[in-house]
Amino acid sequence: MSGLRDRIVRLIQTSGPISVAQYMTLALHDPKEGYYATRDPFGAGGDFITAPEISQTFGEMLGWAIAEAWLDWGSPLNPTLVELGPGRGTLMSDMLRTMKALPRLWSQLRVAMIENSPTLRAVQQQTLAGTGVPIRWADSFAEAEIEGPLYVVANEFFDALPIRQWVHTGEGIFRERLVGLDPDGAFRFEASPWPLPFLPPGGEQTAVGTIYETTDASELVMEDIGRAIQEQRGAAFAFDYGYDKKGFGETLQAVRQHTYADVLNNPGENDLTAHVDFPALVEAAKRGGAEPLELMEQGEVLKMWGIEARAEQLGGGAMMERQIHRLIAPDQMGKLFKVLCVIPKNASVPAGFAHR
Ligand code: SAH
Repeated sequence: MSGLRDRIVRLIQTSGPISVAQYMTLALHDPKEGYYATRDPFGAGGDFITAPEISQTFGEMLGWAIAEAWLDWGSPLNPTLVELGPGRGTLMSDMLRTMKALPRLWSQLRVAMIENSPTLRAVQQQTLAGTGVPIRWADSFAEAEIEGPLYVVANEFFDALPIRQWVHTGEGIFRERLVGLDPDGAFRFEASPWPLPFLPPGGEQTAVGTIYETTDASELVMEDIGRAIQEQRGAAFAFDYGYDKKGFGETLQAVRQHTYADVLNNPGENDLTAHVDFPALVEAAKRGGAEPLELMEQGEVLKMWGIEARAEQLGGGAMMERQIHRLIAPDQMGKLFKVLCVIPKNASVPAGFAHR
């Protein structure tokens, strides 16, 4: 039995059932035993694999797209490249290698890494040692207090932020889904006494037990990013798996060693993620004052950015082909993964994107 599990049990015994968001936060970020605090979860030997860990071309294409966007908009002075949830630092390293080819950008570029796991920060510091640009770390986007133009990238960051769940208990009333304890002391889901303060559109027609998810944490971050981009110029590119139309149903999932696990089992041992609610992120970016562009599929964007030509240039081969296929094929990551680009109002649209 894990120590973290015992501590969550005691917390529920003393102060009552906790929200799904609280449970996710404890399981992922507890400073001693949280998932991200205790391990490097990426790669074949880890729990899951991400686009930058699959192929260097992913970061190269993104680095090039940002460099182009910066040139296109008149090379604004002293840009900061910001990455949210940089994992092992692989994506940043691949982007920087590409940007180095542009001395005018390189000489004034600064980097901000938004990472709240000390373990992963240490890995990132190692990956990026000797890069030759000033790099600083912050726990959150708000705390980083970025000044000047900013180019923000996030790959599989928003899916790791806590969500809240609401369950239809009848007569169109949704109550918060909480994590409580059954008589044997095991975790179980239960419904809160308090209802959701609003009725989700179409909610009264759903079956009892239907789940509705909300994403306050992601929305707050995206609103801050939208505000900064509108006021300071730049752009944001968020890659993640998620849906383009808001609906009902549960998307919270636990993954360990590339297989699904039970969300309520072994907190701190499994990665917990949820599908990203892109329509909510779009609205959040607008509230910040910026312009969210049309949501694109990862496969389409990478192809338009020339990922296939880059793979050839690197020598091609069966292995490389398999990696690129994994990133862009519709039955792999190409369709499920989406890209949301946010720019200031009246700025030019980066290659591969269009106004909504
Ligand atoms: N972008 C990387 C890693 C994705 S995993 C890649 O593509 O490989 C999620 C990353 O977000 C991890 O680095 C994790 O530590 C970080 N993270 C998760 N929640 C966070 C939060 N609330 N604040 C800051 N970083 C967070």
